[in-house]
Amino acid sequence: MPTTLHMGREGAKRQKAGQRGSVSTVIGSLFLVLLSFLTLLPDSAFAQPAQPLVAYDYLAAGDQNRTRIVLNFDREPKVDWFLLRTPHRLVIDLPETEFGIEEEQTKAQGLVSRVRYGRMAPDHSRMIFTMPGPFAVEDLSVLKNETSPGYRLIVDIVSTSETAFEAAMRERITAVPDAGTAKEAVQRNPEDDRFTVAIDAGHGGIDSGARGVSGTLEKAITLTFARELKKKLEETGKYSVVLTRDEDVFLRLDERVRIARENGADLLISIHADAIALRNFRGATVYTLSERASDAEAAATAARENLSDEIAGLTVREEQDEVADILVDLIRRETHAFSIHFARTLLGELDDTVHLVGSPLRSAGFIVLKAPDVPSVLVELGYLSNAEDEKQMKDPAWRAAAIDSIIKAIAAFAAAKAGG
Ligand code: ZN
Repeated sequence: MPTTLHMGREGAKRQKAGQRGSVSTVIGSLFLVLLSFLTLLPDSAFAQPAQPLVAYDYLAAGDQNRTRIVLNFDREPKVDWFLLRTPHRLVIDLPETEFGIEEEQTKAQGLVSRVRYGRMAPDHSRMIFTMPGPFAVEDLSVLKNETSPGYRLIVDIVSTSETAFEAAMRERITAVPDAGTAKEAVQRNPEDDRFTVAIDAGHGGIDSGARGVSGTLEKAITLTFARELKKKLEETGKYSVVLTRDEDVFLRLDERVRIARENGADLLISIHADAIALRNFRGATVYTLSERASDAEAAATAARENLSDEIAGLTVREEQDEVADILVDLIRRETHAFSIHFARTLLGELDDTVHLVGSPLRSAGFIVLKAPDVPSVLVELGYLSNAEDEKQMKDPAWRAAAIDSIIKAIAAFAAAKAGG
């Protein structure tokens, strides 16, 4: 675009020199140049830089009483921050940022026991510093580098009392950005009356999910799998398919449910990959919703998966009062029966292609399965903590076989639901 503008100016100059007599042409050209300049302005002059900021050279130094965090940026970042409790955290909001940070730079250091960072939304990134106890932000400033280009963010943290932390937390509570809200939930053409499948790629953005033995991130596996499943489902021509996310971005758990519902999904499949301390434990599991977990492991898995919103620095919302409505209750029961029906069908198909855990049909209180009117299951494809499972999930042939099984199960379920 700037090239056009430049040529326009040059063109006007040449015209001015060559056709001195034709004032109206000159004015006309100038008018055109001005017009193109004005139309260019919103894109080039006032809008946020299209390129994300680049953050690099992360450093934390200090001890259990005082720690300084330094992070460099290629341009001046607009910074906002607030505090969270249980555990004690400092949340720093940034415009979209690419983090050029080495994993070992973010090892526990001084008062900082953990650092997470990543995208919250397409134009919003976030860093979350977890501390072992109450702390105070003594200083948080952005300074221009004197001897090198760019800017640096400096945060000085000191340990403090629980009371002082509480007071500071309340003081900083302003409007927490409503991050993770999908811009446009409805993707499906309302004219399309085909069976609609919502595929939910677990985690994303700042919430990486589980980490594999060789470093594979759950959020990447789930997105790859969701995209491949969507593609293959669409190739059958029989289904309308909606992805809750199609990029590496954070999405709240209730947003995922909302997207499925607003698109009139007939089925929601949430894709995940688990990780536990027992490295030899492996296999896929299919979960449905239940108030009381089927077993202790299911309860632990649901607790891990439900942490997502908290990991992203969102205050966990109070659960809304259950509507004591007989009709809603009936719908919920019917939905639950459909969820279990699909889960059984799915396990019947997956049994041919995928290694399953013992008693692979389990249930627990997963937030993402709480749509009252959309049959929903959560599939843990395997354990990223197991080397064999991790290798398989990264293997396109393994995924293709698993996807074929899922599609067979969807076909059988759709036929049964249609009464066919
Ligand atoms: Zn997960």
